[in-house]
Amino acid sequence: MTDDTTESTIVDGAQLLEERAGDAALESPNYDGEFDAVIVGAGLAGSAAALTLAKRGLEPLLIERGTYPGAKNVFGGVLYTPTIRELTDLDGAPLERYIGEKRFSMLSHHDETAVSLKPGDWHREPHNDSFTVFRGDFDEWFAEQAVEAGATLITETTVTGLIREKGAIAGVETDRPDGEIRAPYVILAEGGNSLVSEGAGLKETESRENIAVAAKEVLEFPENDEAIEDRFRLVGDAGVSYHYFGEGAVGEAFGGGFIYTNDDTVSVGVAYSLEDAATKRQSPEETLNLFKSHPAVAPLLKDARTVEYSAKTIPEGGAETMPDLVHDGALLVGDTAGLVLNNGVHLEGTNMAVESGYHAAAAIADTIEGDGHLSQYADALEQSFVVQNLERYAWLQERVEEDRELLFERLPTAIADASTEYFEMDRKPKETHAKAAKARVLETVGGLKGATKLALRYRKLVR
Ligand SMILES: Cc1cc2nc3c(=O)[nH]c(=O)nc-3n(C[C@H](O)[C@H](O)[C@H](O)COP(=O)(O)OP(=O)(O)OC[C@H]3O[C@@H](n4cnc5c(N)ncnc54)[C@H](O)[C@@H]3O)c2cc1C
Repeated sequence: MTDDTTESTIVDGAQLLEERAGDAALESPNYDGEFDAVIVGAGLAGSAAALTLAKRGLEPLLIERGTYPGAKNVFGGVLYTPTIRELTDLDGAPLERYIGEKRFSMLSHHDETAVSLKPGDWHREPHNDSFTVFRGDFDEWFAEQAVEAGATLITETTVTGLIREKGAIAGVETDRPDGEIRAPYVILAEGGNSLVSEGAGLKETESRENIAVAAKEVLEFPENDEAIEDRFRLVGDAGVSYHYFGEGAVGEAFGGGFIYTNDDTVSVGVAYSLEDAATKRQSPEETLNLFKSHPAVAPLLKDARTVEYSAKTIPEGGAETMPDLVHDGALLVGDTAGLVLNNGVHLEGTNMAVESGYHAAAAIADTIEGDGHLSQYADALEQSFVVQNLERYAWLQERVEEDRELLFERLPTAIADASTEYFEMDRKPKETHAKAAKARVLETVGGLKGATKLALRYRKLVR
């Protein structure tokens, strides 16, 4: 326990304590032993767990170190909502735009080769459950749903450690004046920078090969109200997510860039291997500036002004580095459990965080009701899309790393050259250009034999 006397704020949902402790005690309520479960962190995983427990008639305490839920949360970002929609009504949720177009671009130094996907269905509800949001707004709203269902939320309170009694985890230490809060179950939803879980030996510190570093800016267009609609060809609430790869996106590093459209702003960022950031001395800020100045990106951002800058790490070790999820008295969820799919084609952590929070809470509720065991959380997650997706793509990260020079440097340039060649307008017959274009690509991949080998190496992607 620390002596730090950081003031805490009771947001709501503390009627329970009011009844039990009386008004005087509310000024410095004693939470010790008052709740069925304590949840560390009011991000997506934590609030999903709190909402699930409250809906089951239990009394969870949700502890958040920020001044409000989401205050400290950084992400790209597209929020994926299939599980949230099962837990609560999304009407009234602070969503920015739905994703009506996904675009994948290969950038060499000066060229772009892109594929754009715009399925008509994405324009109809539920919009493929994909929305841009600001986490500061959304996380606050989501935590409120948990509070309205009966959870208690305290903010400006940092959990500093775990209490162990007779070998089992029996609560948390905090920087509140009254310090220790015992509860039969603790859910660790503290995100990727999981100091409490690591400090208590529930997981190892991620090695830097399994971490990506991300930098993101939110940009506005003060002199052009229609800039976002015009440049991204948007109508109504539709938005886009653009994903960029190749050395034009993040230089020599392994990773990519992104642009997402919000209501009146765009989020622009890069995410790449922390190992590369360290060894190639590529700072997130410089890498982001390089990406923003690429000839295919700069016109989309012309005359924009930065209103927010943030940097954060993303765990991306996948299924192989997942820690034990279940401990005596404690469960690990969301980024704390390393549940992020980040493979270039997908960057999904929000849906995994919510799904894991839900299953962890369900296991606790079943255990309390005498109808289950904590270990069912790991089984449920294993059978869910979360672990199945992580396992499906476990091989991809490693393989792309091995082929990175070919995939991110030589091939994008070759494809751009081949396209230029193929579409060149001169007086030569098309066949001449087609042959030259094909030769340019084949030369890069090692001929027909090399192309076949490459296709075989990545065949699982289309299985
Ligand atoms: C730059 C970037 C871009 C991303 N883009 C996307 C995207 O587009 N789509 C997508 O699906 N995913 C994306 N992700 C991943 C996604 O953001 C995470 O997977 C998701 O936020 C994890 O949710 P969580 O609840 O586990 O953790 P978090 O959202 O990190 O929440 C953890 C909470 O715990 C609190 N906390 C931490 N420690 C303590 C403590 N000791 N005491 C009290 N409170 C504490 C924090 O303040 C925070 O509120 C991105 C991530 C980054 C960094």
